[in-house]
Amino acid sequence: MRLIDRLLINPNTCLRDALAAMSDGACNVLLFVDDAGRLRRTVTDGDLRRALLAGHDLDADLGVLPEKAPKIAELGSSPATVLALMNAHGIDQVPVVDENGLPIHLHLRRELDQPVLLSTPHLAEHERDFVEQAFRTNWIAPIGPNVDAFERELAAKVGMGHAAALSSGTAAIHLGLHLLGVEPSDRVFCSSLTFVATANPIRYLGAEPVFIDSEPETWNMSPAALSQALAAADAEGRLPKVVMPVGLYGQSPDMEPIIDLCRRYDVPILEDAAESLGASYRGRAAGTFGRLGIYSFNGNKIITTSGGGMLVGDDPDLIERARFLATQSREPAGHYEHRETGFNYRMSNILAGIGRGQLEVLDERVRQRRAVFQRYVEGLDGLAGLDWMPEPASFHSTRWLTAMTIASNRFGNDADGLINCLADARIEARRVWKPMHRQPLFDGAAYWPHHERESVSDRLFETGVCLPSGSNLDLAPQSRVIERIRESAGRAERVWSSATLSL
Ligand SMILES: *Cc1c(COP(=O)(O)O)cnc(C)c1O
Repeated sequence: MRLIDRLLINPNTCLRDALAAMSDGACNVLLFVDDAGRLRRTVTDGDLRRALLAGHDLDADLGVLPEKAPKIAELGSSPATVLALMNAHGIDQVPVVDENGLPIHLHLRRELDQPVLLSTPHLAEHERDFVEQAFRTNWIAPIGPNVDAFERELAAKVGMGHAAALSSGTAAIHLGLHLLGVEPSDRVFCSSLTFVATANPIRYLGAEPVFIDSEPETWNMSPAALSQALAAADAEGRLPKVVMPVGLYGQSPDMEPIIDLCRRYDVPILEDAAESLGASYRGRAAGTFGRLGIYSFNGNKIITTSGGGMLVGDDPDLIERARFLATQSREPAGHYEHRETGFNYRMSNILAGIGRGQLEVLDERVRQRRAVFQRYVEGLDGLAGLDWMPEPASFHSTRWLTAMTIASNRFGNDADGLINCLADARIEARRVWKPMHRQPLFDGAAYWPHHERESVSDRLFETGVCLPSGSNLDLAPQSRVIERIRESAGRAERVWSSATLSL
């Protein structure tokens, strides 16, 4: 039963039952409704005590309470408006009623004071030690022992030969494309359903992105669309320089058919695993299937250095060259000698220290994110119209973000409606990425849908929502999210039965 329904009391409820309901403890207010379910007033424990002191006995029904118009908030009021109302009247709870006067939500001050965020950094124990060591030894520069160790430790963790620690995942993609020979007017095939950081570096190099749709099974690059796109490009004699599949929301793409296709046309793969560090596919780490792979340690990713990235590969020369390019392409010489354009893309020794501490808890973070997902599945069980991002057999997702699609006709609310409803309760949820082929930035770029008449990324964008999923998301705030999603489900789902009304 929804929390709000458990708070309802009616004129036939006696003081004893009201006190018992209050001490159930969900909150210290009850919602007194009439026989039609319309809100008449709120009842606090103080109101019940005063009724007893006035000489009413425990069996008296709540009709003895004086009429008192409740302070209510309108549907869709901003958290700031609701807090102002609470402050103006010295109260900690404000109900929301629908157009018929039926209570549909209760704002609680303690919730409005504590936003629930999508994905926040989650520090562990040892980051501080590594960072302090860097301070003690004055290794603050970009390069240093933490950088070397972080590279070694991450490469070992994912089972790749070598790694270069960089200032961001975006920098890693830029360098990776450059290393694979992308030049002006070259083509790069790239997942359409992704964050813009995947595609921007294609433009940095003056190259042309071609966007490939997702498949429904993984939400990641569709081998069917890729196959069509490669065949057409081959016929034209303009194969891409690189294919860039992205692992969304903690899940690897279906790499086997993608690798087969890229082998057939002899095109190297750069895997954008910014969101899928810690995931695996057929027993192997996401991000290790291409010639190169990249990870991100941005603040919202599964592990973070506040900002940072990593380029991984098995070819030691390629990774060594990445390090060279990332430090202004400085030639080994006593003076400053430069033969080619370089970048300032190295990770600092301080941030690498944070990364080393974070890497120690990666497996734990994956378990925690998966547990968050599992709690959503259980807590929202029975709600019509919600479908989770699938996780096919032989894939192991980190569930970096819990993502779902909403069939609005069955759920009774659409993606924006749900997100706004959560925002009213200071809960941050987000739409699924808007595909690159729909971004004004990439107007005119070629796009290959999954099937001639089916664009999967468009459907996922239109119906997809990501829920708060931090590995440090506690049970209570997550229950708040679940409760609020249940409240926002269509009115049809609500049953204002008399059974609900008489406790
Ligand atoms: C976060 C992200 C990036 C970029 O990483 P930064 O470290 O923020 O530069 C690239 N691709 C995807 C899919 C991402 O989610």
